[in-house]
Amino acid sequence: MTNPLLSDWTTPFGLPPFQQIDDAHFAPALDTALADARAELDAIARNPAAPTFANTIEALEQMGEGLDKVLSTFYPLAGTDSTPRRQELQREFAPKLAAFSSELSLNPDLFARIDTLWQQRETLGLSPEEARVLELKHRGFVRSGARLQGVDRERLREIQARLAVLGTEFTQNLLADEAGWFMPLSEDELEGLPAFLRAAAHAAGKEKGAEGPAITLSRSLIVPFLQFSPRRELRRRAYEAWTARGANGGDSDNRAIAAQMLALRHERARLLGYEDFAAYKLETEMAKTPDAVDALLRQVWEPARAQALSDAEKLEQRLHADGGNGALEAWDWRYYSEQRRVEEHDLDEETLKSYFQLDRMIQGAFDTANRLFGLEFREIDAPLYHADVRAWEVTREGQHMAVFIGDYFARSGKRSGAWCSAWRSQRKLGGDVRPLVHNVCNFAKPAPGAPALLSYDDARTLFHEFGHALHQMLSDVTFESISGTSVARDFVELPSQLFEHWLEVPEVLDTHALHAETGQPMPDALRDRLLAAQTYDMGFSTVEYLASALVDLDFHRGAPPADPMARQAKVLAALGMPHAIRMRHATPNFAHVFSGDGYASGYYSYMWSEVMDADAFRAFEEAGGPFDPQMARKLEQTILSTGGSQEPDALYTSFRGAMPGVEALLQGRGLVAG
Ligand SMILES: [Zn+2]
Repeated sequence: MTNPLLSDWTTPFGLPPFQQIDDAHFAPALDTALADARAELDAIARNPAAPTFANTIEALEQMGEGLDKVLSTFYPLAGTDSTPRRQELQREFAPKLAAFSSELSLNPDLFARIDTLWQQRETLGLSPEEARVLELKHRGFVRSGARLQGVDRERLREIQARLAVLGTEFTQNLLADEAGWFMPLSEDELEGLPAFLRAAAHAAGKEKGAEGPAITLSRSLIVPFLQFSPRRELRRRAYEAWTARGANGGDSDNRAIAAQMLALRHERARLLGYEDFAAYKLETEMAKTPDAVDALLRQVWEPARAQALSDAEKLEQRLHADGGNGALEAWDWRYYSEQRRVEEHDLDEETLKSYFQLDRMIQGAFDTANRLFGLEFREIDAPLYHADVRAWEVTREGQHMAVFIGDYFARSGKRSGAWCSAWRSQRKLGGDVRPLVHNVCNFAKPAPGAPALLSYDDARTLFHEFGHALHQMLSDVTFESISGTSVARDFVELPSQLFEHWLEVPEVLDTHALHAETGQPMPDALRDRLLAAQTYDMGFSTVEYLASALVDLDFHRGAPPADPMARQAKVLAALGMPHAIRMRHATPNFAHVFSGDGYASGYYSYMWSEVMDADAFRAFEEAGGPFDPQMARKLEQTILSTGGSQEPDALYTSFRGAMPGVEALLQGRGLVAG
């Protein structure tokens, strides 16, 4: 029997032939694809001919096509339709893929060839894009330890392996602490909670085997509980349990793990020749240095703190008027802030929802992309992996550009959150290959026949992920390794966060935010209140985010702290952290930083991108409005089509003429007057 994962695909647009693929096909296909990739790697590394750009770099770019096919079919399924069998496959694949990746990055013959090319780079007659790819490949090998010898090389391997184990333990401890705690509630303790939260508390109680309703440590339960429960003592208990995750002593305590991980990261950075982990990590980011990150965060810190302190006073007055004693505490903030929000902005979630229909919002994103970039979308009838998944062919002036695949509804087996990935990335090397782009969200699925309604935040998520998709669909480069969203982490959120701004354009809301029953646009007054509410409580959210980002950065600079909790306390004291606000993620549950290396000394990235998206949208406003055609063309030419073909600051500067300051961000967050 032939394995469809190892055959040529004759499907429309080269979409994976999901109907023919069975879970049993994955493991043998992976083994065959890995064996093929190893043979290709060996042929490149041991090629008797002298290294050339074509026989080494281009050959590496084109290697492993079979592996790409298997993985780009498997991972979307594992992420959106997980089953015990697929989880088992994931556990089986991880070490095999990790082993192959170190064989590649620590192959001495291969590195020798790349290094020779790097030394000769000035005389090879490379195009700017080729030179960039050579530079990135060379840098990637050096950063993975290709230059290390003997014991250093062995030690690096040990550190990597140990860090992987510790990161997994950190995550599993968090899950254990989350699963192990719940607070049973009596019926009268549900007083003041909205209907959706009562229902969720009943469901949670049932799941935990409690007699009645309960609150668990899931973010989607605890945050609304803190917002709505008038009982201060219950809020305190819930809040303290939530913030103590990973710091409860015993087997699931993460504090010692965090200390070990910081020490190992530091050792690895030193082995590779860097001052500390932050210097190592930031070298390849847009920010480049820890000082640049620190400078940005501190410029925002003072105005955010000032706003938060003045808000805290108002909330404390509400606490006292409500009969509460003493200072406003962290478990009081959300409750009094919610009351103030309702009073000042008078927004009712249920009323708003009727205006945000999923299909209309998808149309809104498409229409915006059409007006800005001339893209057209036609729904196609392609067999995909689940009945809820839809696909569109994307064209421009009759020319095929991409296939866009949208998977919007939550279901069991789907990872939480929202994301964008490419099943196939754009490239021109070896043929004009256009991308297959996948957006995944977790919106509530309506009852049969009813329209799918979104919250405003959901609609924003839809636009956000579609912004990432545009970065893929408009990509126009030669090499896959720098295509689309293959850019620095602190630059990758620029296209997505920038696209969110179009949802706030009154014209877009008036056209697409139509009432599900009447078909009427939102009344102007409601729309204005909605837009005005977007900066509400930004002092609080900016402070809790910045505190986490500054602690993360501090942990990875200089010698690692033996006691991260003591260091965390010291950093917060020096910042003058407001009494009633705590870090968004405290160290023992800071999964961004300790589940893996991805966001270690990189939690600042969201704000770094926001500085640019606020400034970039302002460029449109200055030029003549959100649909200014020249500005749209420039955005595509300088940023959306160029992938990682240049350093991001060069790309941004060619769009805007200069790098931005923080003014637009502060105004966008309502932290200074606009
Ligand atoms: Zn994003």
